[in-house]
Amino acid sequence: MTTLGQATQLYLEEAADIAGLSESMKSLLITPRRETRVEVPLLRDNGELQICIGYRIQHNRARGPMKGGLRYHHHVDADEVRGLASLMTWKTAVVDVPFGGAKGGIAVDPTTLSIAEQERLTRRFVDEIHDIFGPDRDIPAPDMGTTPRTMAWIMNQYQKYHGFAPGCVTGKPVELYGAEGRNEATGRGVGIVTLALLKHYSSSIDDCTFAIQGFGNVGSFAAAWLHQSGAQIVAISDISGAFHNPAGIDIPAALNHVQQHGSLNGFTGGKQISNPELLSLPVDVLVPAALGNVITEDNAAEIRARYVIEAANGPVSPAADRILQQNGIVVLPDILANAGGVTVSYFEWVQNHQYFRWDLSRIREELERTMSRAFDRVWTVAQERHVSLRTAAYLLAIDRVSQAVELGGY
Ligand code: GLU
Repeated sequence: MTTLGQATQLYLEEAADIAGLSESMKSLLITPRRETRVEVPLLRDNGELQICIGYRIQHNRARGPMKGGLRYHHHVDADEVRGLASLMTWKTAVVDVPFGGAKGGIAVDPTTLSIAEQERLTRRFVDEIHDIFGPDRDIPAPDMGTTPRTMAWIMNQYQKYHGFAPGCVTGKPVELYGAEGRNEATGRGVGIVTLALLKHYSSSIDDCTFAIQGFGNVGSFAAAWLHQSGAQIVAISDISGAFHNPAGIDIPAALNHVQQHGSLNGFTGGKQISNPELLSLPVDVLVPAALGNVITEDNAAEIRARYVIEAANGPVSPAADRILQQNGIVVLPDILANAGGVTVSYFEWVQNHQYFRWDLSRIREELERTMSRAFDRVWTVAQERHVSLRTAAYLLAIDRVSQAVELGGY
């Protein structure tokens, strides 16, 4: 199986070859700037000591301070974080926000930890890495298993060392220097670029059926936005199961269910199906919005959607990507599709630097503008160079990053 780190490198190399990049520039763009691995001792509520491993991998800072989420998940390892850090460099470049790329994580299952344990773990991790991140260096944000609350602890702990610095992390609670609309941003961004894609294929959103895998921060907000825009969402899923309703799932009811019960477990608005069944439904649009590597060479041939929107990071493996292309399925790549989150992170960081607050309508407007412009650029490159949207996004990103490297020097 291709790991996320290998997949990102492969996509980058393919695009770098098409762009005619020198071997040295290629290797500069592949090599992360700094990799930090720390021991994070966690005192459990029962008095036992659990030793966790934390990472922060800073990939590239040619275009600005490094930026990227912090993931708490038991699968976290150096390869995954390295791949995700590199994805952040390309993502910030595609949407043209003035950041580089980084990613971090702790190999731990946060669902097994109490809130107090999560707080101790987070503060201890900040103790280990506070001197390598900060508002003008590297700015963490939420990712899988972390929330605005986690970001508030990070800010608070960071400030004990460095003084007032709300811009040291984004995705904070709105009450604590966070931005309105940050929570919904990734899902909303997914919706905006999906709509743009459908327009280019002369498909109307209300004629299209959708299956959405994952109902967390990304999937649920994407579902809400798409539903409001007239899409018929016939299947949704989360870790508790997948639900199918050919007449259309009542998304507000599903959101309500999750709010009340914490997951889709027990949802009665659709027939329960398996996760592989959801992925192979004959829908127009499939939106993988959960883990990476869910569409691989083993199941790619079974995908019957016309469009796959990579709302998660790395949901389609490179081998699967080739199979989907051969089958005429259009893939909207992660570095464009899910860039709405980091875009609004940028707006939050700007507000923190300005000591000024934007209202929700301004944030939504700027997000729409940024995502639509990025989509148009990627689409144009794909047409001009006769390449897939993924390759086009990488071409655009590596052109911006390599120019910054050349102009700024090494
Ligand atoms: N974790 C999100 C991502 O993968 C957001 C990163 C950020 O806002 O810095 O894009």
